[in-house]
Amino acid sequence: MGRLSVAELAGLIRDIPDVPQPGIVFKDITPLLAHPDGLASTIEALAVPWRDAGIDTVVGIEARGFILGAAVAHSLGVGFVPIRKAGKLPGVTMAQQYDLEYGTDTIEIHADAVSPGEHVLVLDDVLATGGTAAAAALLLRRLGATVAGCSFLLELSFLDGRAKLGDARIETVIEVGG
Ligand code: AMP
Repeated sequence: MGRLSVAELAGLIRDIPDVPQPGIVFKDITPLLAHPDGLASTIEALAVPWRDAGIDTVVGIEARGFILGAAVAHSLGVGFVPIRKAGKLPGVTMAQQYDLEYGTDTIEIHADAVSPGEHVLVLDDVLATGGTAAAAALLLRRLGATVAGCSFLLELSFLDGRAKLGDARIETVIEVGG
């Protein structure tokens, strides 16, 4: 396997303008996922900062957080827990609502998915406004888990999503400035 640089990884992410709405540039990671060295290098880059962080569980946010999160969990030798959009998980859930620019959204986790005191890593593909990851962290803390940190492949730093995540440790592989 050839290890790709951060610049090479960034080059495998495709910008799709005006998706899902005018003015938004959608960061499409599917070319990166389809590239063997790109995928392997991405998972390694996401996992490395957390190797000695005492992570018990990786929590991935639907849907691209599932793809990356499960692979990072495997790399760290821990289990994986999904956080999903409302109404998707089959068991007893705990829900967290959060504000969008217009309206609200809700995410859910199985109520028995993490235990009090468990050290969890929250993982998603893109840190934009930070609303989703902040809601995930709140949900996990309500279940008694310790949020050891949050990890993202891509940070849209001009949106200052970090501000919503308080003093949680945050690691990102690729930073996209304004
Ligand atoms: P936010 O809550 O604003 O930080 O948005 C994070 C969630 O929305 C993540 O699950 C991302 O996958 C998705 N997202 C936000 N902005 C983008 C973007 N420009 N391109 C791709 N996904 C995005």
